[in-house]
Amino acid sequence: MTDHETDQPTGTKTVLVTGASSGIGEATARELAAAGHTVVLAARRADRLERVAADITAAGGRAGTAVLDVTDADAFRRVVDAVVAEHGHLDVLVANSGVMLLSPMTSLLADEWDRMVDVNVKGVLHGLAAALPHFLRQGSGHVVTTASIAAHSVVPTAAVYSATKYAVRALMEGLRQDLPAGVRTTTISPGVVESELATHITDPTASAGMDVYRRAAIPPAAIGRAVAYAVGESADVDVNELVVRPAAQRP
Ligand code: NDP
Repeated sequence: MTDHETDQPTGTKTVLVTGASSGIGEATARELAAAGHTVVLAARRADRLERVAADITAAGGRAGTAVLDVTDADAFRRVVDAVVAEHGHLDVLVANSGVMLLSPMTSLLADEWDRMVDVNVKGVLHGLAAALPHFLRQGSGHVVTTASIAAHSVVPTAAVYSATKYAVRALMEGLRQDLPAGVRTTTISPGVVESELATHITDPTASAGMDVYRRAAIPPAAIGRAVAYAVGESADVDVNELVVRPAAQRP
């Protein structure tokens, strides 16, 4: 029995996951591999990718790695083309890489604003530019992105981060409307999830606020399971948007 999208055995797809060296991306790669999919883990830290891929392989899964800085459009295209050359197709792009450098606008950390736009918005666009030619040629494919509850409301210190995530949500909704029916789009909006995300914040006010806010965090596997659900739905069902937050999280 084969999946009519890919000619692979039913339930198995080739999935490229960015930001797979930690947190949500790593957990998503593990969940997808456990569900039988072939995963290619991408991010900048090669050692972390290799370790996660080795774990997946040891557990009987199929995993490869690709060192990738998503701010480099040409590099993204090379990685996607290499996945297609190796596996014959790419079925799902999980464009998950992101940075959350929270600060009040008045701190004027303009370099960090740029970095969030470069990774969170342009990094997703680079992924689309790389993957869509294959999806359109194949007549099938699936783009999954990690937005945030910050794509649904704005709080102090999160103006630029929220702006990038609102942008991703808008992009994904527009993309959905422009694509042929065979190519699906899923936007996952997590609440607070255990990961390294908040450790990169440099602004002391924003960093202090995180200590309390992040206490309710849930394990990243919860997001991985949501991605696996969307990916595993039949080709005529497009799970467009999911909000997954800790039951204890307020707001
Ligand atoms: P982590 O910091 O643990 O993971 C971020 C990932 O992004 C890492 O694998 C990192 O890998 C990768 N990354 C960062 N910059 C680049 C880059 N330039 N090129 C390629 N990869 C990059 O945080 P999370 O797992 O939490 O974050 C994953 C996504 O989830 C992000 O988009 C984040 O905004 C979103 N999110 C997270 C929430 C949370 O509470 N954790 C809540 C809502 C959304 P490397 O450094 O090796 O390149």
